[in-house]
Amino acid sequence: MGGGPAGVFTACGLVRLGLSVKIITRPRPFPAWEGLSERSVESLRHFGYGETLTAIGPRVAREAHWNGTSQIQNQEYILNREKFDQALLKDAQNKGVQVIEGRIEKLEPRAGQWHISYEIPAGRQDITADFLVEARGREAKLSHAIRSEGEIGARNRDFTVAPATSALLKSYHVSPELEAGTSVATFPEGWAWYLLDGQGTAVLQIFVSSEKGELPPKSGLNIFFSELIEKLPQARDWLSGAVVHDEQVSVRTAAANRTKPVGGKNYLVVGDGSMALDPLSGNGIFYAIGSGLAAAPVINTLLHRPEHEKQALQFFQERIDFAFEGGCLMGREFYASEERWPEANFWKTRRNWPGNAGVPHPDPLSKPAEIHEKPVVRDGYIELETVIVTADHPRGVWQVDGVPLIELLKSITDGANDEDNAAKFGVEKKQVISAYKWLLARNLPEIFQKYFGNLS
Ligand SMILES: Cc1cc2nc3c(=O)[nH]c(=O)nc-3n(C[C@H](O)[C@H](O)[C@H](O)COP(=O)(O)OP(=O)(O)OC[C@H]3O[C@@H](n4cnc5c(N)ncnc54)[C@H](O)[C@@H]3O)c2cc1C
Repeated sequence: MGGGPAGVFTACGLVRLGLSVKIITRPRPFPAWEGLSERSVESLRHFGYGETLTAIGPRVAREAHWNGTSQIQNQEYILNREKFDQALLKDAQNKGVQVIEGRIEKLEPRAGQWHISYEIPAGRQDITADFLVEARGREAKLSHAIRSEGEIGARNRDFTVAPATSALLKSYHVSPELEAGTSVATFPEGWAWYLLDGQGTAVLQIFVSSEKGELPPKSGLNIFFSELIEKLPQARDWLSGAVVHDEQVSVRTAAANRTKPVGGKNYLVVGDGSMALDPLSGNGIFYAIGSGLAAAPVINTLLHRPEHEKQALQFFQERIDFAFEGGCLMGREFYASEERWPEANFWKTRRNWPGNAGVPHPDPLSKPAEIHEKPVVRDGYIELETVIVTADHPRGVWQVDGVPLIELLKSITDGANDEDNAAKFGVEKKQVISAYKWLLARNLPEIFQKYFGNLS
């Protein structure tokens, strides 16, 4: 259910594993423009998403006006989500996924199967499935309603959400001579993202607090948006000579959030449906792709090795928790770096959320490394493996650059050199060196003595 990046990557991964997969999705009912990071483009290239790559706009420099200074911060690719999502679905079809355009209306678990009703122009259709993937992004409803595997109706879900934020978007006609680019700017009410596509369209997206009662009703949005523009110093320059497409202001909810449970024996929630990051990170699509890639071995395990259900779901949940917690801490640091309006409601709440003492990038040596059994991906399944858990990798790492770390430590203790190890693990010497450097940076050879000293 849902054909954004998470749904498509999940579906294509499952087809690669030999399963028969259908996506039911409907086009996004509002205009959306986003920035795509370089690593997302690399993933699309690596996994052969040719149609999608051609739908990506130009790579531009993002100009940031933050805390009173202006600088070119990083690069992003301009993305018209409508074109991007259509191209993703074409790639999915080319890879063997059946794509159905329809709006999901109802789903129900019955006799070990999912019964799904969806609406197409010709009317209501029904379909059954052995396994269901919830990939409807922020519109996902499955885990909101699930009590325990397959049962719908109760409300004991676990939901974590950042201070309520909404993104208000308006599009403009501008001269096609204006060079493509993006900018970010802050003001006491929030922050804004401005985009020029280089072909005559400009988009202004303003992120504001939207706790209960803070946004006007739909009829008042246009005036509210104009008032925000008046308060945003950069807007005068950005919108000089721009003519609005129409008086339409579209609204998207944008607060970071995480919903549990993430899955059961016959369902999994992927992408924004299980964890949505603050758009400030510019990484939502990257995580959605990663979520889809990780989902395939998890589902493969749930279907074909049901005795490993617990570890498969643990793997998926820990992955989400790590990304969510790190993303929220990074967001807090970023909001706190805008110091001009510490008492303004928008900034005050976000510089203090989440309220815990964590840091986004812990020093690898701030806690001694430990050796644990944890679920990892191996040969298309989730399996338990001995991994190294460090402060910066709480989910554990079992191989670096294709070299299994514990095996490498054992081999070194037994007197093998880099060449021996390269031959033993079927990799190049430089891969062995890079894995060993990773271990050295975390004092592992020393810790290893504690666990396996008797092997030397
Ligand atoms: C305001 C805002 C700005 C953002 N900017 C960026 C950015 O600059 N860079 C970035 O990387 N990320 C950005 N993101 C995050 C990014 O949009 C998401 O992380 C990403 O799209 C999640 O992918 P997904 O596949 O989980 O869900 P989605 O991409 O949301 O896909 C879900 C799909 O399900 C469909 N669907 C929903 N309900 C139904 C239904 N009932 N029946 C059938 N189909 C349905 C939807 O139409 C959609 O096609 C932004 C998010 C927001 C809210």
